[in-house]
Amino acid sequence: MIRLPECPICQKAVAPATDPASNYAPFCSRRCKEVDLIRWCEGRYAIVEKLDPARQLEELASGQDAELEDELLTDE
Ligand SMILES: [Zn+2]
Repeated sequence: MIRLPECPICQKAVAPATDPASNYAPFCSRRCKEVDLIRWCEGRYAIVEKLDPARQLEELASGQDAELEDELLTDE
């Protein structure tokens, strides 16, 4: 017996694609493909949102530099 590949999201057996337009391999459906994409995005955002005091100080310092540059640009 040949085992069908399982969808990584819902563990449903994925039938071999008969129509290339409805092929969401390795997922069973468009919905599961989108669920996977959302999970990836959420994982990435979690890393971005992680607060690092050293980095915050760097951002504050670079923000002050940007203000100085604005003053120089307006002082024509
Ligand atoms: Zn699925």
